[in-house]
Amino acid sequence: MKIARVEPFHVDWGAGRGRSAWVRIWTDDGAFGLGEASPMVHGNASLEIIASAFAPMLRGADPLQARVLQDRLFHEHIKVGPEGAYAAALAAIDIALWDLKGKALGQPVWRLLGGAWRRELPFYASIGGNGQRSVDEVCKVVEQWLALEPAQVKIRFDANKTARDVDLDGDIAKARAVRKLVGDRFPLAFDSNNGYSVQGAIKVGRALEELGYVWFEEPVQHYHVESFAKVAAALDIAVSAGEQEYTLQGIKRLIEAGVDIVQPDIVKTGGFTGLADMAALARAHGVDLVPHQTQPSIGHTANLHFVASLTHSHHPAEYNGPREVQDVVFRTPVRPVKGKFVLSDAPGLGLELDEAELLKRAVPWTSSARA
Ligand code: CA
Repeated sequence: MKIARVEPFHVDWGAGRGRSAWVRIWTDDGAFGLGEASPMVHGNASLEIIASAFAPMLRGADPLQARVLQDRLFHEHIKVGPEGAYAAALAAIDIALWDLKGKALGQPVWRLLGGAWRRELPFYASIGGNGQRSVDEVCKVVEQWLALEPAQVKIRFDANKTARDVDLDGDIAKARAVRKLVGDRFPLAFDSNNGYSVQGAIKVGRALEELGYVWFEEPVQHYHVESFAKVAAALDIAVSAGEQEYTLQGIKRLIEAGVDIVQPDIVKTGGFTGLADMAALARAHGVDLVPHQTQPSIGHTANLHFVASLTHSHHPAEYNGPREVQDVVFRTPVRPVKGKFVLSDAPGLGLELDEAELLKRAVPWTSSARA
């Protein structure tokens, strides 16, 4: 079995609802695997990297050698990366190769990863946009989410990354109101989205400790690793970060700074192969790995397979809501039932495409530089 074709393409979800960056890898015997890159700026840069740099290298290769292929791709054009869109392009290829491997062997990806620590995965509601909402509005949105029976709720502030400490007291008031709403024992997390100075973060972090929050995510700018060290040293609450890291070495720097929970994302960090290395690194340091999930469709399912395989993992998987518009291209969309995602035995990622629906939305990536 050899790789015959690598097709990067957009899936256009229609008026203002964005595009996903997908790749389909075909073998010479007509099988295929599906992968997805981070959807930031529609994944344009990643699709271009796949089309012009990776596809020519992959044609004719053995698709069952995902790790070897990733290492070759990583080093061949490393000066274009290795972070950002480059890492997301590597991720899309890797996810597609694992899907393909599962289909070729007739096994679900979770089994090929070493087996499922859990097949029923609780999720946490990842609720964005709270910086702009009033206290009452935040509570209202959280209340709506509770109907889906999440195991935990995370309130995100989606701060303007060029401003700091805009409304510390207001943010604390929202954290307090949500605690009151859900009761004392319900697990909560707080994500400042890089919105604070060190001093601002320590002030908010102390309030979160008093309120019994589980973790405090990205309190400071992601590139100020020394600031993470100061915040983590000053607080008892678990500090989390990592969704803006793309390499094993980036995650290592965060762990060395004292971050308690690392959150790399499967569509940004080299797919299953990249995340597996990070999971081993985190385990060696006694640090929890709770993957970030940007919520593109294939990536979300890939993330669930990965989370299922993580031994000793007890944190819920990130979920930021049903995307009906994306489900139409799948015959078997992955949705939570009574607060849990349940993984099946279907081969690969277990995603069955409705090819007719996909055809209506697929936009092939064309590149003038393409070989
Ligand atoms: Ca986050």
